[in-house]
Amino acid sequence: MKKIGFLMFLFVFIFAFPATGQAAGGGTSIYLNGEALKLPSNGQVQNVKGNVMIPIRVVMEELGFDVDWEKRTRTVTIKQSDTTIKLIVNQTSATVNGKKATLSIAPMLKQDTTLVPLRFVSEQMGLTVGWDNATKTVYLITPNNGNGNGNGASAGPGNADSGSGVTQPVPAPGANPDLASVKGISFDANRLIIAVDKNVTANAFLLSDPDRIVIDLPESKFDESFGNNQMLDAYFNGFMDINDYPDVTKVRYSQYSDSPATIRVVIDLQQAKNYSLINSNDGFIIVDLNVDQTIPPRGNGKPLVVIDAGHGGTDPGAISVTKKREKDFNLAVAKKVENLLKKENEIDYVLTRSTDVFVTLQDRAKLANEMKADLFVSLHANSSTSSAASGVETYYTRKDSLPFAQVMHKHLVQSSGLPDRKVRTQSLHVTRETTMPAVLLEFGYLSNKKDEALLYTEKFQNGVAQGVVSGIKEYLGLK
Ligand SMILES: [Zn+2]
Repeated sequence: MKKIGFLMFLFVFIFAFPATGQAAGGGTSIYLNGEALKLPSNGQVQNVKGNVMIPIRVVMEELGFDVDWEKRTRTVTIKQSDTTIKLIVNQTSATVNGKKATLSIAPMLKQDTTLVPLRFVSEQMGLTVGWDNATKTVYLITPNNGNGNGNGASAGPGNADSGSGVTQPVPAPGANPDLASVKGISFDANRLIIAVDKNVTANAFLLSDPDRIVIDLPESKFDESFGNNQMLDAYFNGFMDINDYPDVTKVRYSQYSDSPATIRVVIDLQQAKNYSLINSNDGFIIVDLNVDQTIPPRGNGKPLVVIDAGHGGTDPGAISVTKKREKDFNLAVAKKVENLLKKENEIDYVLTRSTDVFVTLQDRAKLANEMKADLFVSLHANSSTSSAASGVETYYTRKDSLPFAQVMHKHLVQSSGLPDRKVRTQSLHVTRETTMPAVLLEFGYLSNKKDEALLYTEKFQNGVAQGVVSGIKEYLGLK
């Protein structure tokens, strides 16, 4: 079976090309009736909490609406045929043809430019708005274009299972600290994984016509960072298309209800499917579709390898001599390892993160233990106060990890071409608290000019990713 990324499904540009260092919103493209809009390259188009914000100049010049800016009252008036929208900077209340409307995000001033929420403005003007999370692309379709669905009323596929099929704008459940925060949702290797920061007892049930598995998370909201990595529209809806697994077509999610605050995740199926719900831990909720008749939590019989990209989110890891972040290197290598593992039919795998998200060390180890993984590989780059330090190291903690560490290290040395700083033992959380053979690889020194220059090249990353996979295969006795 094919597998796609874990934890946060989509990784933003920045990780594929860490050297460009673009902000998340910088990678956004906008198409109007299939034509790419010319967007300013100075980062004015921004993705703020899942809302694409655009400068009013783009509204005027590219969307072709009339725009008026009144500096004194900080009011933007946008007009087209018989619709007039009035927006005020830093206010979520707006008017459309004199009627009150509420924005999910207020217009903002950035570098003397007024940014307005693209979805709101477009939908009020009757455009249909679509969003492809994988490519960070907004698709706008004017009413007389496209395939006749241009009523602009709703984003369509993003709506989670409301039963009625009608999108209800649900206000954000605010900053209630008692609610659990959903940090990410992914579908990977035939299992849905929801990362959540508190203990949530999810409720899952199978519905038919169409066949789907519905998972409700009580007392939950989307984490503020959720929209940075995954699609979340103004109505707190999102979805991802699943192409790699034949039984599943789509995963949808939404803030289903505001009171009580409930997040609903729906797995759209081709046909009814058995599943097991793993809900015993507080870091992840897992819905595993790999169950035919075997025992949960996983039943495909293949060895399961956890690939753990170190650091992430608020934790950048080491900072390199040219100010690059370790977390970006780690994730780039993890994604390359993932792409190689996709081609291995005899290995099942899971990534502890596949976007720039903070995951605690406890959750990383717990995920591996809960899933009864067979191997655990943590990916890191090192740093030293001595700029001369250079080379690769493999760390392990428990004795039963040593044979795995030796095999992995051999491949690490070969594939990196860097000095051999040996297999070492140290008490590190992830290699200590996991229950399977576990190693932590240091791919070189970000504090060393020569190592650092190598580490951020595609060639080096591809090479060491191949080394990781070769080591795993050798240890597992696979050809
Ligand atoms: Zn590290």
